[in-house]
Amino acid sequence: MNVWYREDVYGNMTDEMARGWRKVKKFFSEKGTKNIFVTSIRDKIHGDDSRHPQGDAIDFYTDNVTLNLDILRKILGINNFDIVCESDHIHIEYDPE
Ligand SMILES: [Zn+2]
Repeated sequence: MNVWYREDVYGNMTDEMARGWRKVKKFFSEKGTKNIFVTSIRDKIHGDDSRHPQGDAIDFYTDNVTLNLDILRKILGINNFDIVCESDHIHIEYDPE
């Protein structure tokens, strides 16, 4: 599986977010996904009200057409991660309750 990072994706993730991201990648890899495109981690587009600036969020899309977000929620744990399906990407953030 290829993981592509957009050129202007800035910085890294927190350890917690990186741990979740590894699980997400494993899930897609096992699902037979060929490509994941990461469009944002830390960047200068997202404001302070998002968790992107501190490295607790990631945006991506895949070439998989069918995706059941509930499965992802189960894998990551709903108490620690929020998963939102935006118009052209999936947003995952580490946001423990
Ligand atoms: Zn996002």
